[in-house]
Order: sequence, then structure tokens, then C-alpha cells
Amino acid sequence: MINKVKSLIFFFLSPFVVKRLKSQSVFLTFDDGPHPENTQKIINILKHFNVKASFFLSGKEMDKYPHIVKELYDSGNTLCYHSYYHDHAKEKSFSSFYDELKKVSEYEKNIGVKFKKFYRPPYGELTVSTLTLLIILRWKVLLWSVDSRDSFDEENEVLQNVNSSNVSAGDILLFHDDYDKTVRLLPVLLERYHQSGISCDKL
Ligand SMILES: [Zn+2]
Repeated sequence: MINKVKSLIFFFLSPFVVKRLKSQSVFLTFDDGPHPENTQKIINILKHFNVKASFFLSGKEMDKYPHIVKELYDSGNTLCYHSYYHDHAKEKSFSSFYDELKKVSEYEKNIGVKFKKFYRPPYGELTVSTLTLLIILRWKVLLWSVDSRDSFDEENEVLQNVNSSNVSAGDILLFHDDYDKTVRLLPVLLERYHQSGISCDKL
């Protein structure tokens, strides 16, 4: 009984999200953008299929392409954070990571957008100090339940990794903005999901 209570408390208070249990949809998430060409193409494909997705943006890239961040937000997609430098957690000091997280409110003010306080650590890595700071500043650590492996696999394999039989309601799917193959396969995937009655949502 005690263990059950403990695991329930952990479940509700845990800063980690890997799957949205109450949803009937799957969640497409794109890391490492904004990318100067691909992100715009992804926005157009999502619009065409009337689908919204979530984008885990890198601060360094947002500095270069703020207009794409604005466009992502204006087209109804969810903006989330993927660090400033895309470096390893062990390279971040408590205060440098604090500065990185604080930059998000500058982006909100300067670009005129709103972020959801979902942080996806680069390489999925956290240290005691980065996790502590995320908890103090009330960020949720948003991971994924299905990796498309678009960083590693060929186009057809990626489609196979996320095909309708490999995903179920509530799954959070990991993709990246910066691979051309992801842009090419996205319409094929969305058409297949549509045919199989799988709906996609933003976080
Ligand atoms: Zn990344």
C-alpha cells in the first residue's frame, strides 16, 4: 500500500513526461530548429494536413531565425525549449543553465511568442544541478516514447519506426527539423496516419 502511494506521488510530482496518458492522439515533436529551410517546409506540410506539432527550439538557432519562431507560433504550433547551445548537461554550471532558461522570457518578449515550459535536454542528459534548477523554475522535462531515429536511419526505416502499428494513443514521437528526409517523409506519414484514423496533436 505504502509503495503504491509512493509511486502515485512520484507519478504526479515527477518532472518527467514521456507519454501523455489521457490523450487519444499521438504527439509529433521536432528538435533542434528553427532550421532556415526545413522548418518552413514542415509548417506548410502540417498546415496542409491540418495538424499541429511541438517544436523544441535551440536558443542559438532562434537568435539567427526569430522570424521562423514567430511563424511557428502564429501557425498554432507549440514552442518548447531545447537549451541554448545544444551542449552536454555536464558542461553547464548552475548559473550558466539559469541564464539559458531565463533567455526564454527574452524570446517571448522580443519575438512576441509564448513558450510552454517543457524542456527537452540535448542528448536526453540531465545532471543533479540541471534537474534541480528545472524543478525550482517549474519546467517539466519532456522526453519521448517513440524515437523515429531520423538522425540515424534511412527514410524507409524511419517510416517503419513510426508506422501505425508502432505507435499508440499518447505516444510522444521524436523527429528533427534539420534532416531533409524528415521533410520528405512527413507527408507520407501524415497521409498514412490519416488513413489509419490516428490523430496528431500538439503538447
Ligand atoms: Zn537535439
